[in-house]
Amino acid sequence: MSRGLDNAVIPASPALSEQLRTTQKARRQQRERHRAATTGWLRAAVLGANDGILSTSSLMLGVAAAHATHSSVLITGVAGLVAGAMSMAAGEYVSVHSQADTEKADLKLERAELANDNEGEHKELMAIYIARGVEPSLANQVARQLMEQDALGAHARDELGISNTFRARPVQAALASAGSFAVGAVMPLLVTIVAPSSAVIPLIAGTSLGFLALLGGLAARAGGAGMMVGALRVTFWGTLAMGLTAGVGSLFGKA
Ligand SMILES: [Zn+2]
Repeated sequence: MSRGLDNAVIPASPALSEQLRTTQKARRQQRERHRAATTGWLRAAVLGANDGILSTSSLMLGVAAAHATHSSVLITGVAGLVAGAMSMAAGEYVSVHSQADTEKADLKLERAELANDNEGEHKELMAIYIARGVEPSLANQVARQLMEQDALGAHARDELGISNTFRARPVQAALASAGSFAVGAVMPLLVTIVAPSSAVIPLIAGTSLGFLALLGGLAARAGGAGMMVGALRVTFWGTLAMGLTAGVGSLFGKA
């Protein structure tokens, strides 16, 4: 029986094959849940790198289209890298920090409520479990026992939706976005360093779109979606961004 479940070769009966399907489905779901939990940071890193590639290469293309010298294009790229990384870090820090402030204020309020009205808080927690489908007498018991263990923890998790794994970490978040942006921005910069002056525009545009498609495809695959769709989506927006900036650059370059 257990060998049959593991190898999934010849189901002996309809009942067994049904059980087999259920087990395989449960395993697949388990794997997918796992994937959702571990791809959070990967998704953030890929998005940061995408931003770095796209905004830096667009910036350099705009300046190059305005007939700037090779060294001006390079300086623009370096300035774009630093400005973009710092702006990503600042934005991420402020956003995550304000989230942490909200969580802290919520927890403070909850602590005060627990101290003032413990019975009311027990009813509140019980009502939450009932609303999730637990029968009233069991919900009463679960709420009581969880509150004996760690009342604030139980309310934080089940009432406010704050858990330790999702606690906001502003500095790590800021460093991670700045770092991933910089990694992305370095790609078009390196291409510009080695590219001959005459071919800067097509080389930056071509390699950046290639990197974007690759990252988009990998990100889609890591998230369990189709690689092709992910690559095409990011390539479309990349082409639009680079085309527009280059267009604006060549307009102003003529004046
Ligand atoms: Zn509460």
